[in-house]
Amino acid sequence: MSLLGCPLSQILAHHTVYFGGNNKSFILGSSSSSLSFLAPLEAILFDIDGTLCDSDPIHYHAFREMLQEIGFNGGTPITEEFFIQRISGKHNEQLCEVLLPDWDFPRAMKFMYDKEAFFRRLAAENLQPMNGLNKLCKWIEDRGLKRAAVTNAPKPNAKLLLSMLCLDDYFKTLVLAEECDRVKPFPDPYLKALVTLGVSNKHTFVFEDSVSGIKAGVGAGMPVVGLATRNPEELLLEAGAIFVIKDFDDPKLWSALEKVENKAKITPGTS
Ligand SMILES: [Mg+2]
Repeated sequence: MSLLGCPLSQILAHHTVYFGGNNKSFILGSSSSSLSFLAPLEAILFDIDGTLCDSDPIHYHAFREMLQEIGFNGGTPITEEFFIQRISGKHNEQLCEVLLPDWDFPRAMKFMYDKEAFFRRLAAENLQPMNGLNKLCKWIEDRGLKRAAVTNAPKPNAKLLLSMLCLDDYFKTLVLAEECDRVKPFPDPYLKALVTLGVSNKHTFVFEDSVSGIKAGVGAGMPVVGLATRNPEELLLEAGAIFVIKDFDDPKLWSALEKVENKAKITPGTS
């Protein structure tokens, strides 16, 4: 199936098929879906791209168009499999090496900056929040939990996406991996979020949609709930996700949140 030449709106309409919509069903034992050991919950940390919003089809579109323009892969458009395996969740500096190893670094980074500008133009018209996001944000706010957005994305992208989702006030703590010593998949961005919020990794968990992000969260000592926005469930579990949800409306998530809250009520002061 090729959507080459299709308008972006058509690609987005197809993205549930295109980006892992053919995932296997989400079958996991209920025992593996528990977050109760985190009680009392202090904070929840969120990746942005693919987690707060399904932005990867837009990234894919931008990369596909721009890579084809420079004759990447002999001018054959990249596939969604290539995007998921080689591009998704990686920082632009890493992508220079992955995609443009023969280019000098400044030229390769200029390509990435241009791609991000193209992405922002597309995102400004096409971005949608993840299903259930508003409900989850309210649940967190009602309980006074701390939260942070933690991303490998460049600052202008992160700011734009949070603003478009009307979450710039909600996420007062935004950790940019580019401001850490090492980006995801290293744990540094998540460790910085824990320090900034003043919370323990024993009472905090992470939402992530990519292998790179899951490894970063796990490396920082936290359970990571995977979002199968487009990556296959198996891939996310292999990377270390404690369980995988379809989106923030997934009953499996709400069951886990209810249980961790109830456990905190039964055993106040648990540490
Ligand atoms: Mg992501």
